[in-house]
Amino acid sequence: MQLIDGKKISLQLQEEIAIEVKKIMASGIKQPHLAAILVGNDGGSETYVASKIKACENVGFKSTLIRFPDNVSEEDLLKAVNDLNNNDDIDGFIVQLPLPRHINEHKIIEAIKPSKDVDGFHPINVGRMVLNLPCYVSATPYGIVHLLEKYKIETTGKHCVVIGRSHIVGSPMSILLAKNTELGNCTVTLCHSKTKDLISHTLKADIIICALGIPEFLKGNMVKDGVVVIDVGTTRVVSTETKSGFKLKGDVMFNEVAPKCSFITPVPGGVGPMTIASLLKNTLLAAKKEIYK
Ligand code: NAP
Repeated sequence: MQLIDGKKISLQLQEEIAIEVKKIMASGIKQPHLAAILVGNDGGSETYVASKIKACENVGFKSTLIRFPDNVSEEDLLKAVNDLNNNDDIDGFIVQLPLPRHINEHKIIEAIKPSKDVDGFHPINVGRMVLNLPCYVSATPYGIVHLLEKYKIETTGKHCVVIGRSHIVGSPMSILLAKNTELGNCTVTLCHSKTKDLISHTLKADIIICALGIPEFLKGNMVKDGVVVIDVGTTRVVSTETKSGFKLKGDVMFNEVAPKCSFITPVPGGVGPMTIASLLKNTLLAAKKEIYK
């Protein structure tokens, strides 16, 4: 069994991005600038945004954090999105999800200019991804594809089971892996909460992407020997072992599943750091105007 070290690969990618930033700035292009909108003070969202801001510093990007209280109106949030759309110094921005229930998430995402949508959530970017056109690919699936590539994990002809069909992880992941590309060409089964006899699918899988948000859902008896397992799940559970009082749990029962795997990602230190690296990569593309010229 080989552990896939997402932290290491993410740092390598960040080093490459930092070199590229120096190069483009030397050529007269301005410093890349990523902005993030954060609503409320959910612990998880605070941590994710803080990591993204810190990563910006590591690679030499400028970053701006715009905070709103939980009770911000949809109108005020749309205005903030519009201001960022029209601010020439901002290359790309994200609105950290989830948003409070009184805000229509789709409306906010659709208000983001596709050329600045470095999370790749806007319908234009999703549609372009499906059609194989230049776009920002949603950061988590993009990071996972990068991990498979770095560890030279063959995908062509493999049977991949994706568990979870969210717009930000499961669905785009299933599309990317089914594409007629070097890092695709899988036969993909997309499972969700209405899937019957899930174990009959997972037992046949060469690659399993677990993205459902239920800690330790995938057990040892659900996978075959030699499987590749990518654990996307990050559920914060109360813990007495950490200073923060929380611990991140993946969707995979690691102790049972890992011994049967050829490759597996840990939580933390697997997919999470790659999501951040992919967001930086998308922001660099935005600064270089490589996708939307
Ligand atoms: P989500 O929007 O809540 O979607 C969960 C998906 O899992 C849904 O499609 C749901 O099916 C499916 N599901 C729920 N129970 C199931 C069951 N018993 N059997 C099979 N499928 C089931 O979640 P998400 O946003 O994709 O996130 C998933 C996990 O990944 C969360 O832990 C999240 O924190 C984590 N995440 C991590 C990163 C990272 O960078 N590491 C990034 C994004 C998300 P239905 O569609 O039928 O409801």
